[in-house]
Amino acid sequence: MSWKIPLSDIDFNSEEKEAVLRVIGSRWLSMGEETSLFEQEFAEYIGVRHALAVANGTAAIHLAMLALEIGPREAIIQPAVNFVACANMTVAVGAVPVFADICSLDEPIISLESVQNILPVLENQPDCQPKAMIVMHYGGYTSRIDEIKALCDEHGMALIEDACHGVGGSYKNINLGAWGDVACFSFFSNKNMVTGEGGMITTNRDDIAEKLRVLRSHGMTSMTWDRHRGHAATYDVTAHGYNYRIDEIRSAIGRVQLKKLDNNNQLRTEITALYQDKLKTLEALGWILPFRQASANKSMLPSAHLFPLVAPDSDTRWKCADALKSAGIQTSLHYPFLLAFSAFAHTESHTALDKSQDFCKRVITLPLYPTMTEEDVKYVADQVLASAGRN
Ligand SMILES: *Cc1c(COP(=O)(O)O)cnc(C)c1O
Repeated sequence: MSWKIPLSDIDFNSEEKEAVLRVIGSRWLSMGEETSLFEQEFAEYIGVRHALAVANGTAAIHLAMLALEIGPREAIIQPAVNFVACANMTVAVGAVPVFADICSLDEPIISLESVQNILPVLENQPDCQPKAMIVMHYGGYTSRIDEIKALCDEHGMALIEDACHGVGGSYKNINLGAWGDVACFSFFSNKNMVTGEGGMITTNRDDIAEKLRVLRSHGMTSMTWDRHRGHAATYDVTAHGYNYRIDEIRSAIGRVQLKKLDNNNQLRTEITALYQDKLKTLEALGWILPFRQASANKSMLPSAHLFPLVAPDSDTRWKCADALKSAGIQTSLHYPFLLAFSAFAHTESHTALDKSQDFCKRVITLPLYPTMTEEDVKYVADQVLASAGRN
């Protein structure tokens, strides 16, 4: 289907092309110099000691859990509103996903109150000890990361940031990705920074970085690149690792995309403000514009990854989605309720997840990308208003 306005679009030009051709010309395609530079530049940008590039965001999440040594009889507390990758990787390491509710429909971020309800329940479950907590910066927004970090410290839990939406965002002048023990990024084709497939892990902890480095590449102590340069003749295998490496072509594209990031995030923020202005009259009809109030918080610099809208009810949400589809506008749902998926249907609930469930039933995501014109935004907003009976 060819959309008049797609959900997302990428900002690629001759710079990305040149970067790819430079790598092809170098005749070295697997992890090497470009990746090393990409990691250095990303670490510097986020303001952390270490950044490790990986195959994708899910590999980043998997490695983060492995490096934190989370496994059987341990729980990872995480939001019930998230992409399925965190929950799947929790199961992959043999741990238990324990879902917490979101703060509100206006702020679909893991609720501290909900986590505080869960902790005493887990105390009586020796097979489900809370080892870590995941915060997902939904849509690129965060307003409570400092409180979340304090709660983790208080209870001896590691903090994992699923920062796949949040690249370039910050809170109190500390970048998303620099708050947790470890943070995971994705450069999938619809994210704020794009390499096709690709991801990054950031951490300030030297011990975690060393484990990540080894686990990323088969548990080996040296890489093909080291041997190519004569830096190592052989290797030991010190852990049962994986091949979660990125490659030079994607790293080269990532370096260009990183340079464009701040400008593109600024454009996303402007588009968001325009949407909010056009759509705020819907609030009188029972619609919610998530983070509209929170956006006034000057401590928060969002990456403005998504523009979600919460309809008064599920039927109205689908009616809006259908109307937009007929007008050639692609929408999405971030996300279907995790516990409604067949693979998670038998997951034990440790607390009420009413707000998450309600949010997932009512949310719709509108198109948002840096190259969207003011006219595009107005066209989408007008179609939403018309579907809601506001003209
Ligand atoms: C995209 C995304 C992931 C997974 O990243 P991939 O690179 O697709 O594996 C995980 N969590 C969130 C919130 C995401 O948006």
